[in-house]
Amino acid sequence: MVPALSVQGVEKRFGAIVAASGLCVDVPPGQKVSLIGANGAGKTTFVNLVTGYLKPDQGQIRLEGQDITRSGPRQITRLGICRSFQIPQLCVELTALENMIAAVAAAAPTMSFWRHAERDHVERARELLARFDLQPHADRPVKVLPGGVRKLLDIAMALARHPKVLLLDEPTSGVAAEEKFATMDRVMAAVGREAATILFVEHDMDIVAGYADRVLAFYAGRIIGDGRPDEVLASADVKRYVTGEAR
Ligand code: ATP
Repeated sequence: MVPALSVQGVEKRFGAIVAASGLCVDVPPGQKVSLIGANGAGKTTFVNLVTGYLKPDQGQIRLEGQDITRSGPRQITRLGICRSFQIPQLCVELTALENMIAAVAAAAPTMSFWRHAERDHVERARELLARFDLQPHADRPVKVLPGGVRKLLDIAMALARHPKVLLLDEPTSGVAAEEKFATMDRVMAAVGREAATILFVEHDMDIVAGYADRVLAFYAGRIIGDGRPDEVLASADVKRYVTGEAR
């Protein structure tokens, strides 16, 4: 089976800092992968490399077999890798629905001059809001919405393109502790309907253990653990360099 995402021999340096070293990962379609690691371990660099915000110094990145190593972020988004951000990227003066309509319109294959295009965009935007239980917030400006709601809106907007691969940078950061599981339930149910492959950066190991099929543990730009959550979270290196549980 062709991997949804394939990263082979990827290296990235910033001067003397090795942010990615010898990264090799094949992600099968539909897998839910959590990226873990201490601050500065290389998780965001990995996300930025895969989404075209950074170019690797060496190595190849493929989406469903297609080489995207030198493609830019817009082209990669169009090809089917979409992302949400640690800090949601929203127009705070606009309402939740207006933000969603903008995402849907931007995802339309070409500038459409059909009479009903605008109505179709509004319908699709409302459908996506409903999928995340965000209808009660549809007509409120984003600037008055709580952090957890903004987070869900940002993720919902990333789904506007029916992505093949979805990267979520800390989907539960800024979400109240007691709401984290409910937020992840909502995200996984909504994204699961698209059958997308998901990679999510996460610091909360209960969320990692609860929602990932596979964990990639990063340390100093390298992957030091790759496998099922129970295996990776139990490994001595991961306890020492990631979760800080080693004595
Ligand atoms: P965090 O959990 O804090 O977001 P991270 O695991 O995402 O950390 P990265 O942001 O990928 O880590 O950073 C990996 C290393 O690369 C760090 O040492 C960081 O300082 C460095 N780095 C990342 N981006 C740049 C950049 N644009 N210029 C210089 N150094 C960078």
